[in-house]
Amino acid sequence: MSPVASASATRSGARTAVVTGGASGIGRAVARRLAADGHHVATLDLSPGDGRDYAVTADVTDRAHVDKAQDAVRDRLGPVSILVDAAGVDGFKRFADLSFEAWLRVVDVNLHGVFHCIQSALPDMTAAGWGRVVNISSSSTHSGQPFMAHYVAAKSAVNGLTKSLALELGPSGITVNAIPPGFVDTPMLRKVEERQRLGGTVEDHIARTPVRRVGRPEDIAAACAFLVSEEAGYITGQILGVNGGRNT
Ligand code: NAD
Repeated sequence: MSPVASASATRSGARTAVVTGGASGIGRAVARRLAADGHHVATLDLSPGDGRDYAVTADVTDRAHVDKAQDAVRDRLGPVSILVDAAGVDGFKRFADLSFEAWLRVVDVNLHGVFHCIQSALPDMTAAGWGRVVNISSSSTHSGQPFMAHYVAAKSAVNGLTKSLALELGPSGITVNAIPPGFVDTPMLRKVEERQRLGGTVEDHIARTPVRRVGRPEDIAAACAFLVSEEAGYITGQILGVNGGRNT
């Protein structure tokens, strides 16, 4: 174990966390919040971003990349005990025109990326008898979304994966939960608005949102901070909507 890792293990409540998609939007806010809570945080993203303790550039769809990235995190910060899967891409296409390649790409990042990252971090959590996994899915899984069949299918599968792994990993001290965010002000949302795929402007949506505001990445980060905490140890297999009341 590296000197940093030993310090991490002895510091009360501090854990080593990996946040995928941590260079932007929700993942970035989660990384910042977990760092503010005292954890040692590594971001794993296609872009370097500004990872709090350590930013690793990797593609979550490439298992060799993911394993190498998690090894680097282990060496630098110690065994991984918190994983937040926030890396994601969206996609818009009428289903009749959706190529299988486009379908695969969206499923690859949003679903297979989660598979790789969890499986890669699992040995550390199992060895420690303690782990927290939070998968960022999407509120579109509550309602469906036209022209996003690939995205919604992948995110719905993430919710299913979450429930199954909660049952399988609970006896090992590992909780697995999902947060399906809705309408959160990030570069992804603004690009959707620009491409006129939002069904109106952000302002139009605010008027239809019960709490009358757009979500902030920090709203998702707050829920995430709770789910990875010691006191959330009896919460697993849950899909915790954070969406301003748009889906209940
Ligand atoms: P974002 O585009 O701001 O951030 C996504 C990050 O994922 C980027 O930094 C990007 O580089 C990274 N990424 C993409 N593909 C990757 C890959 N193959 N390997 C590694 N990193 C990769 O988007 P966001 O809005 O912050 O989205 C975060 C998560 O929340 C996504 O999974 C998204 O589907 C989900 N989500 C967001 C909203 C919203 O309203 N913003 C709603 C529902 C779900």
